[in-house]
Amino acid sequence: MTPLLEARDLVRRYSMRRGMLGRPVEVRAVDGVTLRLEAGKTLGLVGESGCGKSTTGRMVLGLEAPDEGDVQFEGAPMPPPGSLPWRRQRARMQMVYQDPLGALDRRLTIGAQVAEPLQIHGLPADDARVHALLRQVGLRPDQAERYPHELSGGQRQRSVLARALATDPVLLVCDEPISALDVSIQAQVMNLLVDLQQQRGIALLFISHDLRAVRQMSHRVAVMYLGRIVEEGEPDAVLHEPAHPYAQALVSAIPDPSRRGNRIVLQGDPPNPAARPSGCAFHPRCPLAVPLCAQQAPALKPRPGDGRMVACHVAQGDVAPMRKAA
Ligand code: SF4
Ligand code: MG
Repeated sequence: MTPLLEARDLVRRYSMRRGMLGRPVEVRAVDGVTLRLEAGKTLGLVGESGCGKSTTGRMVLGLEAPDEGDVQFEGAPMPPPGSLPWRRQRARMQMVYQDPLGALDRRLTIGAQVAEPLQIHGLPADDARVHALLRQVGLRPDQAERYPHELSGGQRQRSVLARALATDPVLLVCDEPISALDVSIQAQVMNLLVDLQQQRGIALLFISHDLRAVRQMSHRVAVMYLGRIVEEGEPDAVLHEPAHPYAQALVSAIPDPSRRGNRIVLQGDPPNPAARPSGCAFHPRCPLAVPLCAQQAPALKPRPGDGRMVACHVAQGDVAPMRKAA
């Protein structure tokens, strides 16, 4: 079956200067990412900040052009940015950002902002349509007259969702959609996303560093480290018994009495895309690294035995680890 979305070998490079006089360094923010997302399903994308999750999300939506690779939507390449077919396509895929206050215009009422995408795309933008959208996200029609600062954080994120739903999208890219919200509100917004997905068959690319949220939301999950996917599979496998040492360290940081093993504390510096280590980029911090790891980057491929995708020489069984992780 043709997936709704297929991104192949996406690469995004930036040029970065260190200090006023430093030579420009090439930074590969995203370095060969391949993703598939089926209609009506959720793919969770996890990893520390700066690992390329948001850049991947923006490339998927055509908000940023990849330097290499391509994005197929419903089996066809995305039309050239700015063209009429592109605008039509873009209406069917929407972004939901982390900070609802930043995403909303403080000078406009919620109703005016929900009506805006309808007007842009030449759709009926009457009160009845706006009120129906507000109801779908659990807001009251009279809240259309409110301004963003008159609503709570959760209500603002609901307003952002109402606006994103206006053009009847089949794909939502949600970039850290709950991390700016109070813990008590996070579950409500997650439940709302799941309800909307079930009612409307929307696919979600759910970008988050919150592994528990990702596990709850996703049908598949991909773990990123320094611009690459290092493990991908079913959430129950990847987020319960991860195969990649980086995924193991991330997962071990969440308290879970049912899981065996201790917390793995990573050594070394946090990842810096401007100074990518040779071979497996995780090797300076990896408790299982072997000499090969500094020389050769492991490919992301199905692991013998359980078939989950993992990019690690040791997890693939190609070499034995130097020492066992705690
Ligand atoms: Fe660690 Fe080597 Fe696996 Fe990279 S390839 S995660 S350094 S064991
Ligand atoms: Mg980000």
